[in-house]
Amino acid sequence: MKLLVTGGAGYVGSVCAARLSEAGHEVVVVDDLSTGHADAVPDGCRFIEADLAEAADGLLTEGFDGVLHFAAKSLVGESMEHPAKYWQGNVVTTLRLLEAMREHRVSRLVFSSTAAVYGQPEAIPIPESAPTRPTNTYGATKLAMDHAITSYATAHGMAATSLRYFNVAGAYGPYGERHVVETHLIPIVLQVALGQREQVQIFGDDWPTQDGTCVRDYIHVADLAEAHLRALDRAQPGQHRIYNLGNGTGFTVKQVIDTCREVTGHPIPARVASPREGDPASLVASSEYAQRQLEWQPQRAELDTIVQHAWAFARARIA
Ligand code: UDP
Repeated sequence: MKLLVTGGAGYVGSVCAARLSEAGHEVVVVDDLSTGHADAVPDGCRFIEADLAEAADGLLTEGFDGVLHFAAKSLVGESMEHPAKYWQGNVVTTLRLLEAMREHRVSRLVFSSTAAVYGQPEAIPIPESAPTRPTNTYGATKLAMDHAITSYATAHGMAATSLRYFNVAGAYGPYGERHVVETHLIPIVLQVALGQREQVQIFGDDWPTQDGTCVRDYIHVADLAEAHLRALDRAQPGQHRIYNLGNGTGFTVKQVIDTCREVTGHPIPARVASPREGDPASLVASSEYAQRQLEWQPQRAELDTIVQHAWAFARARIA
């Protein structure tokens, strides 16, 4: 298929672009490089640097079989301080993309959604049928787009899938996580091991969890990418399917730090700090629906494998 990958210079987008290209698809990446990196666009993918909201219509005139839409603003804290940036960057831009897809009859869509749409969960693990009550603007914008996509699928026959990511981690060879402003736990902990930070802050140790620190479901980025390939193949016209993607196992912040200590051989000093606003105590996915419908199974589910890959990527970047 000929595929447009928006945000293909970013973390998840570049890994998915690489896997799609390896699988024999023709991949065109569009990215405005606001948070991505031109050298992260995989070899073999055509790269167009452009603002998606402005470029979507023109880009799709050349004809595509499908779109994988990763381009988004995704910092929870920033979304609370600058909501307009998120409603504009996530919702308005995606609406333009949907309109361009309708206009140019591009029917396949895979959309990056997030566990943040669920907010504070009532029960763990979280199925797709759980109530969606986002506690931050980022999650609200992604949920709004999930609703818009359902409308487009129903009205215009789009074959759409939203994938709700839990905590994406790890790396795929030369493609990995390198945000200018890093907020995610594993890359931050590895920065300490690399000597780029003195210590890691643990955001609260009084949560109702086994060791008092927050529990998250870490999924390897290459497993996530595989789910995108399957979602693209199995999409049905007129349907919008929504799947959670996680490993189904939760790890505490302390367990993550301990695993990073084992993998890196570095003591990684840590200190307990105040809880971060809006953080739920536990987020663990039920990915049963994805496993059944997409015949997908995480292949790199062990936390130490995920950390080893992230560590190899982080070390290669500074070598
Ligand atoms: N966290 C932490 N210290 C940090 C960064 C994150 O204790 O410097 C915690 C955070 O509170 C959450 C978990 O690590 O419980 C994962 O956070 P991350 O930002 O990686 O992903 P999120 O779950 O917020 O999407």
